[in-house]
Amino acid sequence: MKYEPYACPECGAHYPLESLAFRCSCGSLLDIAPFEPRFPASAAGSGERSIFRYVEAMPPLAADCPGWTAAWHQVSMGEGLTPLVPLDAADAGILVKVDYAMPTLSFKDRGAAVLVAVARAAGARRLVQDSSGNAGASVAAYAARAGMGCDIFVPATTSPRKVSQIEAYGARAVLVPGTREDTAAAALEAAETGARDGSTFYASHVYNPFFYQGTKTYIYEVYESLGGRLPDTLYIPLGNGTLVLGAYLAIKDLMALGLVARGPHIVAVQAAGCAPVFEAFEHGNTMVEAVTNTGTEAEGIAIAAPMRGSRVLAALRELGGEVVPAPEAGIAKAKHEVGSHGFYIETTSAATFAAFFERRAAGIDEGLVVLPLCGAGLKSA
Ligand SMILES: *Cc1c(COP(=O)(O)O)cnc(C)c1O
Ligand SMILES: [Zn+2]
Repeated sequence: MKYEPYACPECGAHYPLESLAFRCSCGSLLDIAPFEPRFPASAAGSGERSIFRYVEAMPPLAADCPGWTAAWHQVSMGEGLTPLVPLDAADAGILVKVDYAMPTLSFKDRGAAVLVAVARAAGARRLVQDSSGNAGASVAAYAARAGMGCDIFVPATTSPRKVSQIEAYGARAVLVPGTREDTAAAALEAAETGARDGSTFYASHVYNPFFYQGTKTYIYEVYESLGGRLPDTLYIPLGNGTLVLGAYLAIKDLMALGLVARGPHIVAVQAAGCAPVFEAFEHGNTMVEAVTNTGTEAEGIAIAAPMRGSRVLAALRELGGEVVPAPEAGIAKAKHEVGSHGFYIETTSAATFAAFFERRAAGIDEGLVVLPLCGAGLKSA
């Protein structure tokens, strides 16, 4: 029987890979239909030098779609396999994963590579996407690689450098005045119009569940770099939750395969000025209510109404994680501190460290900790 990768968690409908639908006809977001991930025991020795060495842990598309393998070969730029190194050589208990060492300088390449390969295999000719910057740059780069046209909607306030980067790949950057939510609405309208004429694929890192199949490789790599185990604590920035949900999926995979007994403690970090998931988590809610962004330096995680918020809450509760707000006043200092160890990160990534340094100063012992360097400093000012 043909494997149809898109499944609706609400009504049970399935959609084939070739579908340009980005949500179910019932209105729900789509998930990936259940499949048995195979973590390649020999990933390290497979010879593939990209996240696609974990292609067997992704949905089994090759059997029904001969174009899938060609598509990921075409778009891959060797993303992934990033270093996991001590923040300071004197303390082996704090490791950073240098995920800005990616083709477009942010971890979003993990998700975008998979998503654009899927779009290519599905026969799309044009991509539409919306982002606060990094996901847009990433999708634009991979679209160029796939030979597809691309429109990226960004808030008018996005760092000029991120806009330049999007345009450098030949994509069209559409600057939308207003809030991040206004940008999302403009992209959604363009995606709906484009899907009707059968050519445009909404390459949204929030709507399309294949993005999470790429972000889960972050954990596979941590597992392999540590010689086949996971750390005690994982810090993960939380805006829309693509890395949190990817981490959740990967941890569940590793547990299901009997490779780890339990997951690490996850500390998800939001910007204090825009922390809807933190609010919901604290109040024991199962849904995330939109908040007003009261301003934050961490533009990349300032998501006032995360679309998969209830899923993020459930994932964190299932794994016994927690959500913490990053102290706004500590962000610039944290960026400086991380820089003093040789790592130049964008301001958004410093928020994660602001939370970590604050907790460490309060005497919280978290065992072996892994923190991501999600975006390069040259991305922001
Ligand atoms: C996208 C992004 C995040 C947050 O990821 P979400 O998927 O929105 O939770 C964090 N840091 C950087 C640099 C990003 O680009
Ligand atoms: Zn449905």
